[in-house]
Amino acid sequence: MNFSKSEELHKEALELIVGGVNSPSRSYKAVGGGAPVYMEKGEGAYFWDVDGNKYIDYLAAYGPIITGFGHPHIAKAINKAATNGVLFGTPTRLENTFAKMLQEAIPSLEKVRFNNSGTEAVMTTIRVARAYTGRTKIIKFAGCYHGHFDAVLVEAGSGPSTLGTPDSAGVPVTTAEDVITVPFNDIDAYKEALDKWGDDVAAVLVEPVVGNFGIVEPKEGFLQAINDLTHQAGAIVIYDEVITAFRFTYGSAQQLYGVEPDMTALGKIIGGGLPIGAYGGRKEIMEQVAPLGPAYQAGTMSGNPASMSAGIACLEVLSAEGVYEKLDELGARLEKGILEKAKEFNMHITVNRLRGALTVYFGVDKVTNYEEAQASDSEAYATFFKLMLNEGINLAPSKYEAWFLTTEHTESDIDETIEAVGRAFEKMSK
Ligand code: PMP
Repeated sequence: MNFSKSEELHKEALELIVGGVNSPSRSYKAVGGGAPVYMEKGEGAYFWDVDGNKYIDYLAAYGPIITGFGHPHIAKAINKAATNGVLFGTPTRLENTFAKMLQEAIPSLEKVRFNNSGTEAVMTTIRVARAYTGRTKIIKFAGCYHGHFDAVLVEAGSGPSTLGTPDSAGVPVTTAEDVITVPFNDIDAYKEALDKWGDDVAAVLVEPVVGNFGIVEPKEGFLQAINDLTHQAGAIVIYDEVITAFRFTYGSAQQLYGVEPDMTALGKIIGGGLPIGAYGGRKEIMEQVAPLGPAYQAGTMSGNPASMSAGIACLEVLSAEGVYEKLDELGARLEKGILEKAKEFNMHITVNRLRGALTVYFGVDKVTNYEEAQASDSEAYATFFKLMLNEGINLAPSKYEAWFLTTEHTESDIDETIEAVGRAFEKMSK
C-alpha cells in the first residue's frame, strides 16, 4: 500500500501540532513509529485514507463509533441541530429527553449531569465523592485508564496495594499520594488497601470490564465483593463505564453482572461520535453538585444540542431488536477465525472477548490483570498491526486496545478480516 499523502500530512503536522497528533494514542510510537494514516471519509464499517486506500475498521475511534461511520439516522440528527442553532447557553428539551433515555437504560442513574468528555465525567465523580464522604483518598486498579486529569495519571508502586506515584510529569506527588493502586481481579489486595487506608477512602474507581489493557472481564464475584467491602468502609463505588456502557448491551456493564455502583461515569458511545461525557448516580450523592450542593462543576458546551441529538439518535439505533445479538455473533465468528488461523500457523496468542469487543494478545496464555497484559509481546503486536494495516484492516496502534465491532460490519467483512489475519500470521511465523 502507498501511504505517501499520509506521510506528507504527518510531516506538516509535526511542524504544527505537538507530536503531530491531538491525542497521543493516535501516534504510531507504540508500534515502532511512522506516519499515522490520515483518514478522508468513512462509511459504515469502512474508511478511506487520503491515499485512497480502503480499510475495514475495528478501531471505532477508540469506542464511540458503534453504529459505523456516517450513520444516516445520526447524521440527520446532527444536521438538524446544526441548522437549528448549535448552542444557546440555556436548557433545551433535548437534555431531558436524553437524560430520560439514559435513566431508563441504566436505572442506577437516579440523577445525571452531562459534560463533554470521559475525562470530565470521571473527574467530577471523584470531586462529588469527596464532597459526599468528606474523605480524600481514592482507589483505582493498576493499568486502568480513566482520562487525563491529575488524580488518575498515577502509577502503582511496588507491592499489591500501594500509594501511587505520578505517571506523568506535572502531576504533583501530593496528588498521587491520595491515590491507592491495586491489581484488577485481586480482592485480597483490595481488602488489604481498605484495611490500611479505609477510613480515608472516599471512593473506588472501577471499570466493570477493563477496556484499556485489552478487554478483561471481572472474575466471578469480584464486583460484588468490591461493592460490599467499599460500603463497609463507608466509601462509594464509582463505575467508569466510558467504554463499557452500550458496548455490550443496551445499557451498562453493571446490568451484565447484576451489581450497581453508587455513581457511574459515561462518555464515548453515548455521544454518537460527538464530544460528550455524563455522570450520575444515587440522588443524595448527586445532590452534592451545584447549584443544589457545594461541589462545583460546570461547562459552556455541556448538554449542547448537537451532542444531545447525536446521542439520542445513536441510542435509538442501538435500541433496535437484535443489535447486541448480532455484535456478539460477529465477535464470536471473528474470535473463532483468529484462533483457527493461530493454530494453523502455530502462533501463540490469547483472545479475550466480550460480545462485540475483543483483544488479541501475543505470547501469553491468559490475561486477567495488567501485569499479564504487560507481559504480552509488544514487538509481535507491532508487526501484526503493520501487516494488518497493509491488508486494509485498521486496528489500534497499541497492544492494550480492543477491536470493536459495529452494527455495520457484515459476516463477509469478518471473513475477509480472518483471511488477512491468516496471511499476517503466516508471514510472522516464518
Ligand atoms: N475512562 C475510560 C475507561 C476511557 O477509556 C477513556 C478514554 N479512552 C476515558 C475515561 C477518558 O475519556 P475521554 O478521552 O473522552 O476524555
